[in-house]
Amino acid sequence: ELYRNAHYTVSATQLSQLPSDSGFEVAFAGRSNAGKSSAINTITGIKALARISKTPGRTQMINFFHLDDERALVDLPGYGYAKVPEKMKLKWQTTLSKYLETRQSLRGLMLMMDIRHPLKNFDLQMLDWAKQAELPIHILLTKSDKLGRGAGGNALQQVRKELKDVGLEASVQLFSSLNHQGRDEAIQVLDNWFEL
Ligand code: GDP
Repeated sequence: ELYRNAHYTVSATQLSQLPSDSGFEVAFAGRSNAGKSSAINTITGIKALARISKTPGRTQMINFFHLDDERALVDLPGYGYAKVPEKMKLKWQTTLSKYLETRQSLRGLMLMMDIRHPLKNFDLQMLDWAKQAELPIHILLTKSDKLGRGAGGNALQQVRKELKDVGLEASVQLFSSLNHQGRDEAIQVLDNWFEL
């Protein structure tokens, strides 16, 4: 499995620092604590990757994990920044939206949302940018183990309905890094985007 080859290559704080725009990229986004690092761990099977993204200073960077010469998982910053000045937030929003809009190699956006707290402002913002960029979107409802089977299924249907109501097209699935529910399903989506 190619995902097990994932290795950290480079970080960027601005668009000019991104690696050359060729090959295939899939962006991972989520509010902080949504379970994004755990999901990247679970998908790749490599615990160290999450630690890299959590390194002080790197939490607000775009971090690249290459699978091979032409494919990369791109870890986007998780908006942990209650304490970050407004000016910096705005700068980041510009960087992120421009990345989503202009990056040729970007094939899709994986958005992680805690199944108990879906579709917050950050999520809607990311979804809106991805829509404007005509980027395919796949949503992982993370920590699905926190809900029973019935409640999990209900939450899934509810999110699908709310997306439809606001005119957003995205596929949605349950995901748990604890029991690996949905790992295969997520990998199928990635395989598709990476043309594997
Ligand atoms: P990030 O900030 O989005 O990268 O989130 P993390 O991956 O660091 O996860 C945040 C917290 O949620 C941590 O305490 C994780 O252990 C916990 N967590 C993440 N994924 C799961 C999951 O699938 N199930 C459960 N029960 N907890 C999870």
